[in-house]
Amino acid sequence: ERMISATASREDEMLEASIRPRRLDEYLGQQPVREQMNIYIEAAKGRGEALDHVLIFGPPGLGKTTLSHVIANELGVNLRVTSGPVIEKAGDLAALLTNLQPHDVLFVDEIHRLSPVVEEVLYPAMEDFQIDIMIGEGPAARSIKLDLPPFTLIGATTRAGLLTAPLRDRFGIVQRLEFYNAEELTKIVRRSAQILGIDCAADGAAEIANRSRGTPRIANRLLRRVRDYAQVKAGGAITREVADAATAMLKIDAQGFDELDRRLLLTIIENFDGGPVGVESLAAALSEERGTLEDVIEPYLIQQGFLVRTARGRMATAKAYRHVGLRPKSGADL
Ligand code: ADP
Repeated sequence: ERMISATASREDEMLEASIRPRRLDEYLGQQPVREQMNIYIEAAKGRGEALDHVLIFGPPGLGKTTLSHVIANELGVNLRVTSGPVIEKAGDLAALLTNLQPHDVLFVDEIHRLSPVVEEVLYPAMEDFQIDIMIGEGPAARSIKLDLPPFTLIGATTRAGLLTAPLRDRFGIVQRLEFYNAEELTKIVRRSAQILGIDCAADGAAEIANRSRGTPRIANRLLRRVRDYAQVKAGGAITREVADAATAMLKIDAQGFDELDRRLLLTIIENFDGGPVGVESLAAALSEERGTLEDVIEPYLIQQGFLVRTARGRMATAKAYRHVGLRPKSGADL
């Protein structure tokens, strides 16, 4: 299993249920998002209304699902969880919507993958809390209007640009999640260790945080793998040395990059002379899906300044050359 992957594994899901924050004050980092959501939630509750629809975007594992759980909890309402590809027909969406209680939250993960037909049904549902559904078939078919309870739609997506404009415009609140800094991730690792009963020293937690690509899901995964290593090789406790040795075994370097990160940088440098190279060519050279590169691999490399995205394609920066042990191209101004 790859440490850096787009989706949660079975093991992630089982453990995430026990360590997932439930309240805003347990949701670490993302301070602007937390402050704003706190105000919007209090205001909606004070008025006795449903919270406005919320769009959350950001790379996998940054806390989109967690934030939607926290929002529903703070509102004191039920959360229904589904995802874009699961809602196949207009009727599937109608069934979900008509079963909501007033002010409930419907969380739609990967909302950019809704079919156009389903999206059409969603517009009036979001705007007027109404849906039109077709009853019957052929000449006897007729459309009826149904009133829905006021509800909150929370949509999650990796990149805002994947959404159609009419859908994006229907969200009153848009939140973008950022990568977490080392201090925030250290707190997340310490909190998880405490809940899971793992003996983890402060310097061990900091070391795991440094290698987690700014991503809580990866931090929690690494914590579990380092725990295994500590248990078998080092008498149980996670210290900096143990975390170092365990992450080295997993081929995760000091930057938190894994083999695919390094292979991507090296491919741009060696096969494409540092770039610019189009994402399709890069995906082909790496035998990876374009979507994996764009959603999972590139955002962190870009945020950390190893990669730049230009109109003509991706380019490796001087930092990338140095990271793979090469001298930057002469005249490189990046
Ligand atoms: P996403 O939906 O963006 O892919 P998740 O919400 O499933 O990511 O987050 C993955 C895991 O990371 C969660 O189970 C949770 O344990 C942890 N996590 C995410 N965000 C936070 C946070 N702000 N504070 C603490 N833990 C977090």
